[in-house]
Amino acid sequence: MARKKPGRDARTTTVQRLESLAQSGVKQLGRRDRKPATKVAPEPAAANPPQAPAPKKAAAAASVREPISSSTSSSGVQTPATDLSADTLPIIQAEVAACTQCDELASTRTQTVFGVGNPKARLCFLGEAPGADEDRQGEPFVGRAGQLLTKIIEACTLQRSDVYILNVLKCRPPGNRTPLPHEVENCRGFLDRQLALIQPEYICCLGAVAAQTLLQTETTIGRLRGTIHQYRGIGVLCTYHPAYLLRNPAAKKDVWEDMKILMAKMGIPLP
Ligand code: SF4
Repeated sequence: MARKKPGRDARTTTVQRLESLAQSGVKQLGRRDRKPATKVAPEPAAANPPQAPAPKKAAAAASVREPISSSTSSSGVQTPATDLSADTLPIIQAEVAACTQCDELASTRTQTVFGVGNPKARLCFLGEAPGADEDRQGEPFVGRAGQLLTKIIEACTLQRSDVYILNVLKCRPPGNRTPLPHEVENCRGFLDRQLALIQPEYICCLGAVAAQTLLQTETTIGRLRGTIHQYRGIGVLCTYHPAYLLRNPAAKKDVWEDMKILMAKMGIPLP
């Protein structure tokens, strides 16, 4: 009997995986080597020392490289174990575009809304879910609340293209209702994988859903804001959602106080 050549199973598995990705519309796999980081936010000049030391990116990176194990959602859909060494944002985006784990959302969405911005950003903004404008355009935070977020980012001396913006849910809940627990659970794996690849130093959670989902807590946003929390070694600041600020402009000063805390931690001087 012919002996099986070593490595043959591995090659077969690789070929099958590439064929599967090709069928999903993935035409090119990105390099997983990270170039020397092009920091989008200016490092503090020696003459302007940071108000607080920025945490070591390497420490955060080591933490977020923990493997993500497989899980079964409440709807019974198995989320496969993730081999982060082969994961890329285009691969996750293709999986999101084909995802139908949440029956209602998958049948009512115009398109999925994955995320936008610098894939090597030091700072991510995490919102709740796409709204009508985002569902139509396929990009997070492009409606009125998004325009206010852009103003907040620019007030921090940054541009939208400097940061990465994403939501907990990748599909719009009908009527902009609050995401249901099983929907958050279904989409959680995509979020964790996105953040593991981007490896930001800081995440700014916008609103209760983002904050409570990321930090796995039921503490209110009012009690979470104003201090730095931790998610897998990444600093997390929670503040009010821009949509809340549109309804309650008086809370803008609280958000600005939160952003000052975050910018000080990142070593970004504000005017
Ligand atoms: S919200 Fe997330 S888990 Fe649910 S269908 Fe959309 S992509 Fe899939």
